[in-house]
Amino acid sequence: GGERKTKSRPAKPMSFDQIGGQERAKQELVEALDFLVKVDQISKFGIRPLKGILLTGPPGTGKTLLAKAAASYTDSIYLGASGSEFVEMYVGVGASRIRDLFKEARQKAAKQGKSSAVIFIDEIDVIGGKRDGGQQREYDQTLNQLLTELDGIHTSDSPRILLIGATNRKEMLDSALLRPGRFDRHIGVDLPDKKGRTHILNIHAKNKPLDLEEVNLEKIAEESFGFSGAQLESVMNEAAIYAMREDGELISQRHLSMAIDKVMMGERTDREATK
Ligand code: ATP
Repeated sequence: GGERKTKSRPAKPMSFDQIGGQERAKQELVEALDFLVKVDQISKFGIRPLKGILLTGPPGTGKTLLAKAAASYTDSIYLGASGSEFVEMYVGVGASRIRDLFKEARQKAAKQGKSSAVIFIDEIDVIGGKRDGGQQREYDQTLNQLLTELDGIHTSDSPRILLIGATNRKEMLDSALLRPGRFDRHIGVDLPDKKGRTHILNIHAKNKPLDLEEVNLEKIAEESFGFSGAQLESVMNEAAIYAMREDGELISQRHLSMAIDKVMMGERTDREATK
C-alpha cells in the first residue's frame, strides 16, 4: 500500500559514532552484523544465516538509531515500520502488509544495486505478542506471515534480508519468534550511565552555540540520572530555546539546568495525562 511511502525515503546515513553510550550494544550488534558481511566464510563454515536481531530496552534509548546504523554498516537499504501499522480490523490485511514490506525491501535493494536490506520493526510486540491457545486474534495471521518470511530467508538470497525488531516488553513476545533461526540475537539497549549520558549530550551539542567557558556537560549528565537518549536530546533543545528567548548569544549551564527540570516535569505531566 501507499501508507508507508513517507518512511521509505532514502534515510540519512547513520553511523555508530552518532550514537552515544551503548558501547556494549554497539559491539554486540557489530559482531552479529559481521555474519551478514562475511557471507563467504559463513557458508564455508556452514553457519546458519542470521535472520533477525531483537533490540530490547526502554523507549528513547537509540534502538531505531542502532537499526539505521546497522543498515549503513552492512551497506544495506533501510526500511522502517512500526508494529501498530499492521494491526487492522480485517483479517489478512496485516499479513499482506508484512508480505508487501519484505517485497518492497527486496525490490528497493535490487533497484539500488545493494546486496542486502535491513527491515526495522519497532514495537514488534504488537504483532509478535503471545498467542494464547484457543483465543484467535485477527492478527495471528500477521505473526504467521512474519514467521513465514523469516523462515524463507537463506544465506544465498540476493538481496539478503535482515529483520531488526525492537520492543520494551520482551517477556510479551511469542516464543515462536524467539526460537533459533528467527530472532537469533537479543541485544539489550539500556538507559545510559553517566559516561553514556555525557557522550549523548556532546553529540547533541555539536551544532549548538554553548558557552564553552562555563558549560560542564559532565555535571549535566550527573543531574540527569535516569534520562534516556531521547530525553537528553530534548534537554539540549530546550536549553537552546531558553537561550534564544533571553536574546542571549550562547547556551549557559543555567539554561541546561532549567531544561533538565522542564524535561522532567514534562514526563510527569505526560504520565499523569495517561493515567
Ligand atoms: P522507541 O522505542 O521509543 O522507538 P528508540 O529506542 O528507538 O525509542 P530512538 O528513536 O533511536 O529511540 O531515539 C529517539 C531520539 O533520541 C533519536 O533520534 C536521538 O535524537 C535521541 N537518542 C536516543 N538515544 C540516543 C543515543 N544513544 N545517542 C544519541 N542520541 C540518542
